[in-house]
Amino acid sequence: MAQISFINVIKEYEAGFKVLDDVSFDIDQGEFVFIVGPSGAGKSTIVRLLTKEEQPNSGDILFNGESILNVDNTTVPELRRKIGVVFQDFKLLDSKNVFENVAIALEVAEASEEEIKSIVPNVLSMVNLTDKMFKYPKQLSGGEKQRVSIARALAHEPDVLIADEPTGMIDPDSADDVVAILEKINSLGTTIVMATHDQAIVNKLKKRVIRIEEGKLVSDKVGGKYRG
Ligand code: ADP
Repeated sequence: MAQISFINVIKEYEAGFKVLDDVSFDIDQGEFVFIVGPSGAGKSTIVRLLTKEEQPNSGDILFNGESILNVDNTTVPELRRKIGVVFQDFKLLDSKNVFENVAIALEVAEASEEEIKSIVPNVLSMVNLTDKMFKYPKQLSGGEKQRVSIARALAHEPDVLIADEPTGMIDPDSADDVVAILEKINSLGTTIVMATHDQAIVNKLKKRVIRIEEGKLVSDKVGGKYRG
């Protein structure tokens, strides 16, 4: 059974304009998959459908074999803990330090103080930020900020980590560090789905590449190139 299945998904924000047009794919537990395509192709829409921020007009989306479309509002937080998301713009709170920015994810889920004290240093070590634990976002580089946001997404030990243009706002060397961390997380068993424009990274990693153009899935290849 696939971990994630998109089955003939159609999404229109405005009637008559299909932002996703009959998109189907399966992703297995433990895969590392790039979703590529021009700006406006529908990549972020795929991310928002997976986290149930949007509903498709037709088709189905399965997570671990069960449709997420009819998951009720009380179960959505549980789904979102299993699917961690990292965004291009980090979404850190400037008034909170690195430790607190990660702790927030756990506080919202009513984790105990002991859990917070054990999990936060653990996930920060995973992203090589132990020495920045008490710094504030303003004192960090773009790459470091993105690693904090990855640590925050890891706090709930998600089954899947989705990264929407995670290297879009950082320099190429920091981007390589961020991707190396995503590969490490993947090697420990977490599925990684990364929507990106970053041609250099996609071509270097030789992972599975799903290409979306004007809402249609136009290719799905292992070891794919950004163009091709
Ligand atoms: P990508 O992530 O590949 O750049 P998006 O999924 O963000 O693409 O957008 C796909 C298309 O859907 C674009 O034409 C965009 O303008 C449109 N779109 C995205 N979000 C909305 C929205 N909330 N309302 C209306 N149109 C939207």
